[in-house]
Amino acid sequence: MKTSNYLACPECDLLLQQNISVVGDKIHCPRCNYLLHRPRTQSVPRTFALSLTGLFLLFPASLLPIVGVKILGNTQDGTILSGVVTLFHEGMWGVSIVVFLSSILFPMLSIVLSLLISGCLYFNHANRYLSVGLRILQHIEEWAMLEVYLLGIIVACVKLASMAQLKFGFGLTAFVLLLFVTVMLAHNFDSTLFWQKIEALKKNETK
Ligand SMILES: [Zn+2]
Repeated sequence: MKTSNYLACPECDLLLQQNISVVGDKIHCPRCNYLLHRPRTQSVPRTFALSLTGLFLLFPASLLPIVGVKILGNTQDGTILSGVVTLFHEGMWGVSIVVFLSSILFPMLSIVLSLLISGCLYFNHANRYLSVGLRILQHIEEWAMLEVYLLGIIVACVKLASMAQLKFGFGLTAFVLLLFVTVMLAHNFDSTLFWQKIEALKKNETK
């Protein structure tokens, strides 16, 4: 029995014969109606291009000023990294670690892993760490939460707007673009296709 031809429903564990699906199809679990697979057009090249763009945006988004606050003539620029450091120094180390993980480390890892995996698949380069990488990617994706940070920025700006002058920096533009790229990445990423391609590469290598 070739196990790679079977698919288990993540909701109810029903084992299904995996059929070849084409773009536009939606495969639902016959028992619980969970959406099992929705093939994406050009998933590998799009993931590769988007993660490359994301990688370029990561640095300005986390290092350049998001917002500058001017109170009584004093201007202070805030970046994501300086926010994490300030929270840590203020004794809120738990919050600072969560912010660091969800808005810097996990998004960075997720983009780097998507770039490496889609790059290998795009150039048909077999690598024995591909399946481990994809498994890690599927886990950390759930923890990268840039949108929560953006919400925090909006709330802080609304609260500060009445008492201080705010100046938005290029970091904010990069951050919003990065958020857009990660949403596009999640939309174009076809995990079933990625697993199939990794399996195919493995088979070619052992031949
Ligand atoms: Zn099911």
